[in-house]
Order: sequence, then C-alpha cells, then structure tokens
Amino acid sequence: MWGLREGQLGLTAYLQRLIVMDFYEHPIQAAPAPRCELCGEVIGVYEPLIAIRDGQARETARSAEPEVADSASSCYHRTCYAPR
Ligand SMILES: [Zn+2]
Repeated sequence: MWGLREGQLGLTAYLQRLIVMDFYEHPIQAAPAPRCELCGEVIGVYEPLIAIRDGQARETARSAEPEVADSASSCYHRTCYAPR
C-alpha cells in the first residue's frame, strides 16, 4: 500500500519535473523579439510589423501570428517599411 503510494508520488514528481524542465528549455515566447531592420528598435508584440519571408512582405503582428514573425528573414515596423 505504502509502496504503491510512494511510487505514485514519485511518478507525479518525476512528471512535474519533466514539465518544469521543458518549460525552462522551451519557455513560452522563447524567441527573441525581432528588431526592425531599418531603425534597429525592438518590435513590440502588439505593434503592426512587416515580415519579409520568401521575398514577400506581409503585414501582421507577433500577437496575432508569432510564427510569421519568427520565421521571417527580416522584420520592419509598419511605419518604417515603405514599399518602393
Ligand atoms: Zn523601425
């Protein structure tokens, strides 16, 4: 009986430690904040940004589409980016 309880507690603690370790290795929003290629300032989570990916400019925001900003080859503030 006690052995079973200890085993269950041990497993729970083990799983909790795995989750905690995973959290430290993959914290939420681990990606560094992208910087504007033009002015060099960090682009805020809720700021509209222009993500350049595969030669295509796309307007988005990290809060809406974090994967777009993370995979972009370069990012600009919307106000900094002026298509020519
Ligand atoms: Zn900028």
